[in-house]
Amino acid sequence: MSNNYFFSVRAAERITSKKVKRVSLWRNGAVLVHFKDGKINTVDPLDFQRDFVDFRQQKSREILLRRITKTLYACKSAVHEKVYSVVVEPDGLRCNCKDWEIQLEEELQRPCCKHCYAVLRDLGCSSLQDYLKMPF
Ligand SMILES: [Zn+2]
Repeated sequence: MSNNYFFSVRAAERITSKKVKRVSLWRNGAVLVHFKDGKINTVDPLDFQRDFVDFRQQKSREILLRRITKTLYACKSAVHEKVYSVVVEPDGLRCNCKDWEIQLEEELQRPCCKHCYAVLRDLGCSSLQDYLKMPF
């Protein structure tokens, strides 16, 4: 996957609580964060992975859900008018929002956006892995 979406400046700022200019990657997998104050630090790639999930899980709490059918949810955020639909499938959840589509384009194996996390919670699952373990 392209790294800009995953190892983003925004994510680096959330992780480090500092102003970030850019993020660069080394061939050995190390992530370098260049701060606006000129300093440079390495950040554990796992921190980005955790942030990716945590950030979306946190945002999912603002989502209002309406279950249309057994496998279809209408999702609306408390602040925006636009309604997104999440389809529940045995091998994952599908959403029609930009974040989900970018994750798919970026070749994430199982995209999961804030809408999907809201639906997962409604299904009684704490994570996508948790959901995939559910018997059907
Ligand atoms: Zn979504």
